[in-house]
Amino acid sequence: MVRGYLPFAVPFIGEEEIAEVVEALKSGWITTGPRTHQFEEDFASYIGCKHAVAVNSCTAALHLALYAIGLKRGEKVITTPLTFAATAEVIHYFGAHPVFVDVDPVSLNIDPEKIRQRLEKPVPKERVRAIIPVHLGGWPCDMDAILVLAANHGLRVVEDAAHALPAKYKGRMMGTIGDITAFSFYANKNITTGEGGMATTDNDEYAETMRIMRLHGISKDAWKRYTARGNWHYEIHKPGFKYNLTDVAAAMGIHQLRKCDQFYRRRENIAHLYHEGLSNVDEIAVPAWSFDSAGDQQKGLEHSWHLYVIRLNLKKLKIPRGEFIDDLKKRGIGTSVHFIPLHMHPFYRKKYRYKPEDFPHAQKAFEEIISLPIYPKMTDDDVRYVVSSVKETVRAHRKSHPIGFTPYEEAEAVP
Ligand SMILES: *Cc1c(COP(=O)(O)O)cnc(C)c1O
Repeated sequence: MVRGYLPFAVPFIGEEEIAEVVEALKSGWITTGPRTHQFEEDFASYIGCKHAVAVNSCTAALHLALYAIGLKRGEKVITTPLTFAATAEVIHYFGAHPVFVDVDPVSLNIDPEKIRQRLEKPVPKERVRAIIPVHLGGWPCDMDAILVLAANHGLRVVEDAAHALPAKYKGRMMGTIGDITAFSFYANKNITTGEGGMATTDNDEYAETMRIMRLHGISKDAWKRYTARGNWHYEIHKPGFKYNLTDVAAAMGIHQLRKCDQFYRRRENIAHLYHEGLSNVDEIAVPAWSFDSAGDQQKGLEHSWHLYVIRLNLKKLKIPRGEFIDDLKKRGIGTSVHFIPLHMHPFYRKKYRYKPEDFPHAQKAFEEIISLPIYPKMTDDDVRYVVSSVKETVRAHRKSHPIGFTPYEEAEAVP
């Protein structure tokens, strides 16, 4: 059988989403309105938080979050270099500066110990305002340690949970832990509205600020102005932004959210299959996540399995990561790299004079990581094909033993 190309990510859009979008289109109300409000309520109750503010991207949610906590020009925000552009670009919107600290070499999340070291060696006159932890791939950051550091240094915590729906930290849903949490509904995220995002918080003031600022800093949204119960009058309180979510997008979101647990179970199942198939391949490392369900339940940790990231042992392979990816592509498998560390991009190199080796764990990880496809639309057969292709690629490029070298086990067997 000839296999078609297996893309890195494909959204799962069901008939329910399609029917609801059609309903929204026919309803005569297509921008922010009843469906967006319903999506916000459903999301808040799913997460177990007080407020959910729907916006048109996670980037917008992060921007509004930093606005709500009052980030000012010249201030600093600590975050990870191993993330997407959005996490740090929003800091620049304020004329503020990101301060990167290195990641933990196992989880690849920001290392609280490195945050502590950075905070205890402050630069004169600098004002650090916040920390943005990113739950990379859906693996929860060490939030207890981060919250203690934030409390001790008077910092706010804004979480980039673009990958982390529905991850849990010590039994708590992401979105209930930091001051504000930002989620993404971009096309390839765990649930999607095409483009979209949500900011969650238990803080009434933050929520109110974000609600007003997402729509031009106006006191009432259009739904409240143009419906029978509304009236025409409005007031501008601040020069705001145009970040509201449409009801067409929310129509998708309502049904995607209802399938979130089902999507999650399938993602977890695929992660299991990858673990089984790949954990004994010497030339690669699988995520060091414990699948011991008793242990996991005790710790209350749940990975959202947005990404399944393997790492190549480059000492045992003849090709670099890029060629490994090309080889998988030739076998009809789409993969990706999350991420090119921010400090290695031209903008950050030039502006902050970062060198690749400034964050050695992020740099080393970057050279070794490959994100394998993981999404509910994949069949078991797709997963098996990825496993066998990764193994074949390893076999084709593994280093043979140098002449005269005897592997340890064989050497032992010689009398
Ligand atoms: C996708 C992503 C974002 C941005 O999400 P948008 O909804 O596209 O704005 C932010 N951070 C991380 C880590 C992401 O992967």
